Amino acid sequence: MVQISLYNTKSRQQEPFVPQDPEDVRMYVCGPTVYDRAHLGNARPVVVFDVLFRLLRQEYGADHVTYVRNFTDVDDKINARAAETGRSITEITDETIGWFLEDMGALGALEPTHAPRATHYIGQMIAMCAELIARGHAYAAEGHVLFAVESYADYGALSGRSVDDMIAGARVEVAPYKRNPMDFVLWKPSTEDLPGWDSPWGRGRPGWHIECSAMAQELLGATFDIHGGGNDLQFPHHENEIAQSRCAHPEGEFARVWMHNEMLQVEGKKMSKSLGNFFTVRDLLDQGVPGEVIRFVFLSTHYRKPMDWTAKKAEEAERTLRKWYAQAAEAESGAQDAELLAALADDLNTHGALTALHRLSGDGHGGALRAGLQLLGLMSDAVPDWALRKPVDGELTSRIEKLLAIRAAAKREKNYAKSDAIRGLMQIAGISVMDGKEPNWEFDYNNSVFGWMAVSAPAFDGKTKVTIEELVELASARDVKIDRDADGRWKQVTSRGSKEVDFEILEFAEREAE
Ligand SMILES: [Zn+2]
Repeated sequence: MVQISLYNTKSRQQEPFVPQDPEDVRMYVCGPTVYDRAHLGNARPVVVFDVLFRLLRQEYGADHVTYVRNFTDVDDKINARAAETGRSITEITDETIGWFLEDMGALGALEPTHAPRATHYIGQMIAMCAELIARGHAYAAEGHVLFAVESYADYGALSGRSVDDMIAGARVEVAPYKRNPMDFVLWKPSTEDLPGWDSPWGRGRPGWHIECSAMAQELLGATFDIHGGGNDLQFPHHENEIAQSRCAHPEGEFARVWMHNEMLQVEGKKMSKSLGNFFTVRDLLDQGVPGEVIRFVFLSTHYRKPMDWTAKKAEEAERTLRKWYAQAAEAESGAQDAELLAALADDLNTHGALTALHRLSGDGHGGALRAGLQLLGLMSDAVPDWALRKPVDGELTSRIEKLLAIRAAAKREKNYAKSDAIRGLMQIAGISVMDGKEPNWEFDYNNSVFGWMAVSAPAFDGKTKVTIEELVELASARDVKIDRDADGRWKQVTSRGSKEVDFEILEFAEREAE
């Protein structure tokens, strides 16, 4: 067993991780507000804490880790989206939760043990508000319940701020019902057109912070091991969670270790709609960037450093993963590499873990490579489908499309000799054309003995500019032997040796076709 150590935001140092109960290691991570697709930045904490979840399962056993990540399904942004679109809140939140699970699944994220929706815990939130009022940490005013920050001496300890600094520095909402401008909302009144629940303070809805405190208490208890989230949540959200939970349940410590991931940038700039560099996880997946590639790029930067997403990193990640998958595909999953485990145990040094995988690949340790890919969530039981298909680049695709267009025109003109010639040349180049199918071509490097020549060679013979001798020569330079069969028909008798598309033959086909 390896000693895990984690950087604790609360103590501002890296500490050995000692769970309260090794039989039930407990972690809470703030989840999404569900009104729209997750953008790339939203995915970073999901991947970071998924790696931690996997490491904890590896060390303590899969049945001895409880991971809670909530869905915020009551929020003014959701209400606004419903008003804009005329759709119901349930419809929007259900759809968005489905999208989120699907997109994060594509990034290799395991589903947490519990994924509670805030609206299913309203009773617990009301009870916590009442408890805070009873203990003198909160007060009701004009249909609101507010947390009195002055009642909790440690307020600001996590983010290292004093209440006075916060008042000076923060844009606090000054409201007549607040005793102190820093007091924050636990419960607020709802008008008839907004979602609301009956409470001792009238019909209303919870503030955002109270939901995490209530759900963590219900599902993990008053003391648990790890609380995670993006560092943009440190203040005020996490500060407020601590205040609520410690004051409602002074017998508990709330979270013992606080972990925060840094933010994400795109090509060196903050992601924003106005800069045109804003995109969702789904956008990338739809563009054909595999989820494993996105995950790999995320893991290449330590979670406490700003992560810069670049197209170049994604291309490199894809090349590396293709190489690793080819090696891992032929191996049985072996024991975990000690250096890889040590890197992960050192405050989730995922960059170091990838370095270990590079070494395992270089040394030809396919079994350990496979085990490491699985631990990092880069591979499940099998190599992903996309890695079995050959990479398609823009230039290649446009050349193929051009040849297919010329071939289609030849067929319309009933020039079958020409259309068959193009098809045959494309087959030698490593591309099978499939009429009447969509897509109508695929990479096919190992065309069989009765491949293209049996079909198309007669078409070349004396009917196009290409002579059969030229084709035999072209083919034999690529380890493809072409010969006549017993009936005197030309056919290919060995498969191609290469695993790449043959550009020279494609160029030759283009010249012949024009
Ligand atoms: Zn939270």
